[in-house]
Parts: sequence; structure tokens; C-alpha cells
Amino acid sequence: MVSSSVLGFPRIGADREVKKAVEAYWAGKISADQLTEAAAGVKKTNWTSLKAKGVDYIPSGEFSLYDHVLDHSAAFNVIPKRYIGQGLSPLDVYFAMARGRQADGVDVPASEMKKWFDSNYHFVVPEFSEETDFKLLFNKPLEEYKEAQALGIETRPVVLGPVSFLHLGKASKDAKPGFQPISLLPKLLPVYKALLTDLKSAGVEWVQVDEPVLVLDQAANYEKEFTSAYGDLSPVAPKILLTTYFGRLDTNLSYVVKLPVAGLHVDLDRAPGQLDEVVAAVKPTSIILSLGLVSGRNVWKTDFQAALKVGQKAVDALGADRVVIATSSSLLHTPVTLQSEKKLTAEQKDWFSFALEKSAEVSVIAKALSGSQDADVAQAIEANRASIAKRRDFESSSDDAIRKRVAAITPDMYERKSPFAVRQETQKKHISLPKFPTTTIGSFPQTKEIRSHRAKFTKGEITQEQYEDFIKKEIESAVRFQERIGLDLLVHGEPERNDMVQYFGEQLNGFVFTQNGWVQSYGSRYVRPPIIVSDVSRSGPMTVKWSAYAQSVTKLPMKGMLTGPVTILNWSFPRADVPRELQTRQLALALRDEVVDLEKAGIHAVQVDEPALREGLPLRRADWDSYLTWAVESFKLSTAGVSDALQTHSHFCYSDFNDIFPSIQRLDADVISIEASKSDMKLLEAFKQYGYSNSIGPGVYDVHSPRVPGDQEIRDRLKAMAGVLPDSLLFVNPDCGLKTRGWKETEASLANLVSAARWARENY
Ligand code: GLN
Ligand code: ZN
Repeated sequence: MVSSSVLGFPRIGADREVKKAVEAYWAGKISADQLTEAAAGVKKTNWTSLKAKGVDYIPSGEFSLYDHVLDHSAAFNVIPKRYIGQGLSPLDVYFAMARGRQADGVDVPASEMKKWFDSNYHFVVPEFSEETDFKLLFNKPLEEYKEAQALGIETRPVVLGPVSFLHLGKASKDAKPGFQPISLLPKLLPVYKALLTDLKSAGVEWVQVDEPVLVLDQAANYEKEFTSAYGDLSPVAPKILLTTYFGRLDTNLSYVVKLPVAGLHVDLDRAPGQLDEVVAAVKPTSIILSLGLVSGRNVWKTDFQAALKVGQKAVDALGADRVVIATSSSLLHTPVTLQSEKKLTAEQKDWFSFALEKSAEVSVIAKALSGSQDADVAQAIEANRASIAKRRDFESSSDDAIRKRVAAITPDMYERKSPFAVRQETQKKHISLPKFPTTTIGSFPQTKEIRSHRAKFTKGEITQEQYEDFIKKEIESAVRFQERIGLDLLVHGEPERNDMVQYFGEQLNGFVFTQNGWVQSYGSRYVRPPIIVSDVSRSGPMTVKWSAYAQSVTKLPMKGMLTGPVTILNWSFPRADVPRELQTRQLALALRDEVVDLEKAGIHAVQVDEPALREGLPLRRADWDSYLTWAVESFKLSTAGVSDALQTHSHFCYSDFNDIFPSIQRLDADVISIEASKSDMKLLEAFKQYGYSNSIGPGVYDVHSPRVPGDQEIRDRLKAMAGVLPDSLLFVNPDCGLKTRGWKETEASLANLVSAARWARENY
């Protein structure tokens, strides 16, 4: 019999119960016991719904109050010294590691967070050193296994594998130079052994051990580690399902099939091309193959016919008992259920499948492959065939005008009329900016008042006119503020934006929005990505009204503000029927029209933000070039339709440029602003060494903290900056938008920024 499995389920609750409970606990409104109870409720709902959907292998142990990697660190005693001995309960140590703690005389910063592979989920980075003293403080997978068992539900506990755990971590501050976390493997394995032995004694049949690191290039160097780890663990563990996801195994496959594991899971959503190779490699072994056919990363219904074909191929080669139909990865990256969506049309709803619906999909596909004669299965297959046909029909009715426009893109459309040096001279005549020009990244504080007006407008409690008058007032006061403080290149302040992607998605054709499609980004922060469902186009100007109004109330130059095509794509659920590249080019053309319209409206500069350009980099190096080619071209397409006089800006929230300098240069933005307030001058040295030729605004202070940078501190920074890069190329700005800040610190910080820039003008 072919069986079905889900690798992990969203742990936020259908109604965001976990966010509410966790935040209530932080605010001191509920006790630790009440928090545990709320969590137990969500776990119970998850397990019982998966069981009701007919899933054979139901996950346990992957639930989390904040982050599953952090859970693992806490259980294995990988707790940095700064959190110990502060008199905190284990639960509060856990949350202190996650988000820092500043209360009752305790003052510790949060741990670093990093993106979980190429998803928009962030994990808390474990810190290791030679001193790390691994201990099994508690066995979370076992506890959750028992918790489910008490409800009469048999589960498959999930454990993050030892190689991935070490690989994802970093050397702590007290580690010796050159220390590599992976060197701790021999010390770590006994703790895994203890954990797995306990699972086995409790009667666990299968354990899911996640080793996503196996889809990375670096795993080619880990053959020895994998061989010794699994050689050690297999004899004491329940049957191990070694789980890989988010990409292909590639050459790592040759050693993976030699590991003494009972099962292997591969992602056939992200890497369908590896099927034949994987089937051939496991065939001579006794390994059970888990086929990740139902996407854990998108929101689209699975095409059962296509999945059945793939499944049948595996069944023919291996026999039904050696095949499992699974989600490609944990469903953590998808919203909980479509049932909560009341505003999508029936047609739209029929296209999608969220976590709960995907769980039913694995079960139906597995049953069909097992030859089930069940009427429900036949019905589900027929219903799926009808839905997929309708969706295909919708897809084929593409917007011809846009498709033609994309096909007609010519190479000259990517290029500005003249090279940067010429543009710089032209721009000097059009925008009178002093040396060390000061500007901001776009947003000003999103006050309670702004949010409440937006909420009232959405609910229909105030009219469009009332709302727009309010926004205009906000814009005017932001302009007056900037004039008063003495900034040189102004912005309108973005009071009209709910979110930098949603705002554009709502105005573009081709997007739909959910009411409750929340996905965990980190901890209690969830996002609701828009969904691209068809060809994207602009039905009219999206921001011109606001930027033009801002320009009309001041003589100083105004900078328009847009979110870039790559960032809009990366922070949405893309459609699955056409390449991401095409979707991005469509977005780029829409933005290109907007940039041209902004210039026509008398705006002097336009910033096209691309904070997500880097995070879209494919996991494998071999795939970088093709991504960077279309990503860079899309940005250029959106910004190159204007005259030399228009100054284009772009903003990146990060400073990690080392391996992508050529692409940043190729963007050919007149000015880029980057995060540099935390890093030392090495970053600018790197720009210099690379020979970066356009203007740069390295953030002179960190906006992510309410701390006000002193005037002298900013001067020192400018001094250092001017020591590295030609001052004719430097802009002076904070390192990101100010929307999450209060006005008080914004005013104080920007006043210091302006006075430091004035000082620099006199001294350089
Ligand atoms: N223009 C945006 C802002 O200032 C940029 C946000 C971002 O970089 N994430 O808010
Ligand atoms: Zn930013």
C-alpha cells in the first residue's frame, strides 16, 4: 500500500491562536500554564484534523512557540552564556534567546536570526564554541509524541538532524578563531542517541530526521559527517526517514543512498527533475521513498493527474509498499486553511489549496495509487480534474497585450540613455543637491492615527475623500518636518501604505488577497503574502498622486517611492503555471510606466526598493546566474524608461554584497542606499575594491532601535566613509525606512544626521 505523509503543519493556529497566546504571555496577561494550554489546543486541532483527512504519517514535535531551531537549541543546552544565571525560568530563557529581554534588571539582546533556506521564514541561529556542553534537557519530540498518543493519535516525531543543526549555527563570540561548528559532531551525537533511544523505547516506529542541508552545495563536503552520524544513530533509533527539501540532492545522492536509513524524502515540487535519478539510486537498496509531490511552498491545488503519473512511476520501480506520497516540505510556509476565506470568489477558491487542504491531497493521491475503490477517492480525483481544467482554462486566457509587450522588450529598454558619469552631470543641473546630500529611505513613523484612519477607511467608516484629505495632511506635515530639519532630498513619507508589497498588489491587475492567509515569518510575526493569479499589469498610476502632491507643497526636490519588481515577486505567492521570470518582467513593465509618470509629474528622483533581491538567490550556485540575469534586467527595465535627468535610487536592507557586486553594479541605479550602520568600514572598502562606480548612501545609523545616534558619532562615520569612497559619490541617510519608529527619536536622529552632513560639507 502506498501511504501518505505530512512533514510539518503550520503552528500558528487557524485563528492565530498561538500569536495571541504568546504575545499575551509576554505582556504578562496570561501564565505559562495558560500558554501551554493554548499551545496544546492548537496541537490537538492539528493532529485531529490531519487524522480526519486520512494522513498516515502525522508529524509531532515540530510545533513551536517561536521557532523550531530555537526549540532544538534549548533542548540540547545550546544556550549562550548571556542568558544563563539571570534568574529566568526555562521558558523565559527561551524567549530571551528569541527576542532579548529588558526587564527587572535583566538586559540581554536577542540572538541573531537568519532566513530558513530560500523561504521567508527566519530561524534563531544557534551559537557554538569549543565549550558547548550538549545535554538533553528535555525530549520535545517524545513529549509531543506522547501528547498525541494520549489523544489516540499515532504520530511520527520530527527532529532536526545533527549535520543541519551544526551547519545552520555559527561560532559564538568566545569560540577560538577558525572554529567550525561542524567539528562538534562527535560531541553532539551521544545526545541525539539518547533522544532517539528514548523514542524507540516509547514505541515510536518512524522518526523524521530533517537534513535540508543536503540540498546545498556545501553538503558535498559532509559525506564523512553524514556517514558517521547515521552509522551511529541508526542502530539505536526508530526507523529513520531522512528528509531533504527545498531543492535537489544532486551529487550528494550518491552517498545519501548508502546511509543506513530506512527512508528518504525528496522534494519533487522544487526539484522534479531528480525523480528518475533518485528512483534508480534507491531501487537496489531497501530504502522507502517519500515523494514530496504536494508543494509545501505554494498555495495552488496539486494536479492529481500529474502527481499520479509520478507516483505510479515510483510504484512500478519500487513496489507500492516502498512509496510514500508526501508534502514537499513542512506546510509551515502555507496558510492554515481555505475555510477561513470568505471574500475569495468561488472560482478563485477552487484554484487554491492551503495546509489543511494539502493534507487531504496527499491522502487521496496515496489511496488512488493503492488502487482504492473508495467512492470518496474517485470523487476527489474527479473534482480535482475539473478544478485543474478550469484553472488551465483561466490561465490560457492570458492578457495578450501584456504578453506581447513582454515579448517585444528590446535590449535598449534595459539601458539608461547615457552612462552614470554623464547622468550625474545632467542631474546636478536639474536637482540642486549639496555635497553629502541628506535623504531618508521613504517611510516616516506610521502612527496610531494613520493606522486608525486606514482601518476606518477600509471598514467604510470614513469616505475616500476624508481619507485622502487626511493622507494629504500627513504628507504635508512630513514635508514641513523635512524642510524644518534641513534634509535635502525629500520623500512624501508613505502614510498611504499598509505594506510595501500589498499596497502595489492591491492596485495592480493579477493579484488576489486573502483575509486570513497568514504565514509565520518569525516568532509571533506573521505575514499575509498576496497571490499572483494572472498576468500582471497596471491599470493606472499608483503613487503619482501622492508624490506630485508632496512636490506641490515644496520647492525642494522630491523623491518618488516604489517597491521593485523582484521584491514584489519574492514577497508574494507566485503563480505556478508560468516562470517567475515572466511574472517579474510583467511587474517591471508596470513599474516602468509608473516611473515614467512620476518623471512627467515633475518628480526629480525615484527610488525603487529591492530589499528582497538577495534573498531570492537560488540555493545552488549553479542557478545564481540565471536568477541574477532576469532579476537585474527586471530592475533595469523598471527604471530605464526616463531621461538622464531623473535620479534613480534603490534601497537594500542588507550589507551582504560580497558575492553579488557585479549584479549590484549592473543595476546601474544612480544612487543605492544600504545597511552599513552596524558593519564597519570593511563594507565600503569592498565597494571600493570592486570599483563600484555610482553613488552610495551607506546607512549612518540603525533604525531598528529607538536609540538616537549622536552628532559626533555620525560625523565619525562620515569621516570614515569619506576616507574610503570619493565624497562626490556619498549620500547621507539612515539605514532603512522609519515606519516603525516614533517621531521623537526620528526628529532627534535626523537633526543630528543633518548637522553631521553640514559639518562634512565644510570639512571635505
Ligand atoms: N521605502 C521603504 C520604507 O522606507 C523601504 C522599506 C524596506 O527597505 N524594507 O519603508
Ligand atoms: Zn530597508
